[in-house]
Amino acid sequence: MSEAIRAPRGTFDVLPEDAARRDALEGQARRILESAGYRRIETPAFEHTELFARGVGEATDIVQKEMYTFTDAGGRSLTLRPEGTAPVCRAYLEHGMHKLPQPVKLWYLSSFFRAEAPQRGRYRQFWQVGAEAIGSAQPEVDAELIVLLAELLAALGVRATLKISSLGTAETRAEYRDELTGYLRAREDQLSDEVRNRIDLNPMRAFDATDPSTRAVMAAAPKLLDRLSAEDAEHFAEVRGLLERTGIAYEIDPTLVRGLDYYTRTLFEFSSDALGAQSGVGGGGRYDRLMAQLGGPDTPACGWAAGVERMLLAAGERPVTSALVDLYVAVAEDRGVPAAFQLARDARRAGLSAQLELSRRALRRQLAYADRLGARYVAIVGESPEASRLKDMESGEQRELTPGDVIPAILRASRLS
Ligand code: AMP
Repeated sequence: MSEAIRAPRGTFDVLPEDAARRDALEGQARRILESAGYRRIETPAFEHTELFARGVGEATDIVQKEMYTFTDAGGRSLTLRPEGTAPVCRAYLEHGMHKLPQPVKLWYLSSFFRAEAPQRGRYRQFWQVGAEAIGSAQPEVDAELIVLLAELLAALGVRATLKISSLGTAETRAEYRDELTGYLRAREDQLSDEVRNRIDLNPMRAFDATDPSTRAVMAAAPKLLDRLSAEDAEHFAEVRGLLERTGIAYEIDPTLVRGLDYYTRTLFEFSSDALGAQSGVGGGGRYDRLMAQLGGPDTPACGWAAGVERMLLAAGERPVTSALVDLYVAVAEDRGVPAAFQLARDARRAGLSAQLELSRRALRRQLAYADRLGARYVAIVGESPEASRLKDMESGEQRELTPGDVIPAILRASRLS
């Protein structure tokens, strides 16, 4: 008998038992991003190699070592997409989306391919949810994107910390690089061999060094954040101000670097301790130069991508429910069934997702079930003919309302939150 064929290394099958959690994640991403006006886009699984060479950057690890590139029968060099931003920008240009009201807000959930050494949380074919807002340079775009990713992670039960930084413009970065290189050269004798040998290749890496002598040198080294132009510093301050208003905790990390060349100004990353070595859950930033690099007009843009498998790993055993239940209609006494039935139907007609108790369980078990479903509200019907109890499952707060007031109260609250 011949040997059984297995899936290639670094790839995996999505079996039916895995699909439910992935579907739930997709539902959450769709709900959160589409309610903010992002619309779905899907681009081809392969593109002209040049798109990534130009878009991601010739010098990056992705382009140098990680791309699955092949020549087709017509002699064209094609590459399985290693990331989603360059293809979305290509589509924006190709379809003249600059004629639409700006920014154009797009999201995707697609598979990507990188020839990396496989390990937990790192695969050769993996999925990402991504969001891109193209055509506005305003700081509220950056802040809103960060908030949306924070909301997605929270909805999935992923506890992640946020680091942000600003890279300024390409010119600021080039000047800073020269300054840092000069600083390191003048202190070569205090640096580790590894850092010394990499000064010209990537001086920023010296900030990650662990030996005490190099760390002492780096503690006093000039920081890119202190070299930002007035406009770039202002943009960064505005992004931070908006994040603070929403109460999202963040840490400024002047040494944050990401493996793609196209970033300018804002840069951010969410990481989770639950992931071990591959701690990055998702991240992104502003990429105001990319569109011009791809041959289009100067177009400011910002976006992020988050790994589906990493988010699911970081969510752990906690069930990732689809939380598309705005209202669970619980029935306290059998006499409440007709009113509950009517309430569930009215709620759906008012645009809410509503589920009705269909097994006449004990009230305590109905509430536990509603909680497991991730229902936002529970209406408890049948305790008295005149009033229903509306329970906010997030705050635990309960209110007595006349039956006709339940749906307006939910709609009002969802408009305010
Ligand atoms: P990047 O495009 O490198 O910024 O990646 C964005 C996110 O995609 C990361 O934070 C990870 O969650 C995920 N990701 C990147 N590379 C891989 C990989 N090889 N396997 C699984 N997930 C990945």
